[in-house]
Amino acid sequence: MSVNIFPLIFVGGLLYIFYKFMVNQGLLKTHGFGTLVRVPQEDFSCIGGQSTAISELKEALDFILDSDKIEKMGIRPLKGLLLTGPPGTGKTLLAKAAANYTDSVFIATSGSEFIEVYAGVGAQRVRKLFQSARDRAKAENKKSAIIFIDEIDILGARRGTHESHMEYDQTLNQLLVEMDGINADDDVKILVLAATNRPDMLDPALLRPGRFDRQVKVDLPDKEGRLQILKIHVKNKPLADDVDLDAIARETFGFSGAHLESLANEAAINAMRNKSDKITQKDFLQAIDKVILGEKIDKKPSSEELYRIAVHEAGHAIVSEMLERGSVANLTIVPRGNAMGFLRQSLEEDRYIYTREQLENQIMVCLAGSAAEKVILGNKSTGASNDFEKAVELAKEIIFSGLSSLGIISKDDISPKKVNDEVTNIISRLEKKTTELLIDNHFVIHKVVDVLREKETISGEELRSILNSSF
Ligand code: ATP
Repeated sequence: MSVNIFPLIFVGGLLYIFYKFMVNQGLLKTHGFGTLVRVPQEDFSCIGGQSTAISELKEALDFILDSDKIEKMGIRPLKGLLLTGPPGTGKTLLAKAAANYTDSVFIATSGSEFIEVYAGVGAQRVRKLFQSARDRAKAENKKSAIIFIDEIDILGARRGTHESHMEYDQTLNQLLVEMDGINADDDVKILVLAATNRPDMLDPALLRPGRFDRQVKVDLPDKEGRLQILKIHVKNKPLADDVDLDAIARETFGFSGAHLESLANEAAINAMRNKSDKITQKDFLQAIDKVILGEKIDKKPSSEELYRIAVHEAGHAIVSEMLERGSVANLTIVPRGNAMGFLRQSLEEDRYIYTREQLENQIMVCLAGSAAEKVILGNKSTGASNDFEKAVELAKEIIFSGLSSLGIISKDDISPKKVNDEVTNIISRLEKKTTELLIDNHFVIHKVVDVLREKETISGEELRSILNSSF
């Protein structure tokens, strides 16, 4: 008697497809949700330039360490802590160090991992995340677990703002339910650390007392902070005697911790490419350009274009030095990323507020590239569009800070035409001033252009010695 096994294969196949679907959607997981690290190795000594954030965080973490005392005093446990700040400043690192400090199991995930088009999937994942944190802590014999949710704004944006808002809202509601369910007498204490660059986007319910009621700001590091971070990332690297980390920290205003880590790495790669067994200051300085602009590119400008680029960069650099001695770090006509040439400035001290004169000087430096083209070549080119965008931004900063001839104005009530007219006034006045400065010094432009075409890159010191020998 023959048996027809086709229906069995068909049903088996259907079951397999269903199983795969469930696994893909996270409804059925073959392993826990989020990336699990037992107790992370990273501690607070791996983090530079964030002493305020570290002490605020430690203060909050002492709630976990002193949980018995807290329970006795009837204090409600701290459930959530929000780390806010720009990318790459060390938020993930702080969360890991927090787990290390409290001897907690650590689970990391990201807001985007919860969002699916299928209703209910996100909420399931939130439940699973909290459950795996508890299970894992028990399995590891730990009293606490830290859940880290990066990009919380994706999952925690104001309810009703998303197109498929039912799914988003259910996911967020589930997170609120899980956080409300954390109690002081739980066997496993759970602390949720979340990171975002946009705290303003979050649903107010998330920021309510008892949820993420503490915020720790994780800002870009200042000069001292950059020095600390550099020291951390060169610890395992052989440095030549000429390396001056203080000078590198000064030249990297605006760099995040992640930029500085990449800078130390790129400097080591430069040294290896040069077949040297020590990393020199030059390797670091070249790496700064690479981190800002990206890898050198193979674009080969024609010799006519190269001359124009050199004139343009020389214009920026000469005006920068004339307005503020020592402000040029280096200038180059080597194309990198989207830039055909580049001027890098460095300041003696980090600057956070500006006078009108300082902002006007910055605008003049922006305009100096195209002004030099006009003075030396008789016409301008498209190469200055980014410079103009920056100049317009700076002019608007003058206007909206109440430093323009319009006086103190309301951003909301002033007409765009009025703003535009004032931007044009500021920029044309400064363009005239910049052009006059360059006409008076046109012989220096030629000198700098000649050296730049020969060497491709000139350091600030070299530029200053050309200027000194010219006057
Ligand atoms: P994102 O917001 O993009 O997720 P993040 O703020 O979480 O970034 P991290 O992932 O912690 O940044 O940092 C990335 C890497 O940059 C770290 O692994 C580390 O090598 C380096 N780094 C960042 N900040 C610091 C810091 N303050 N001290 C030392 N290293 C840092």
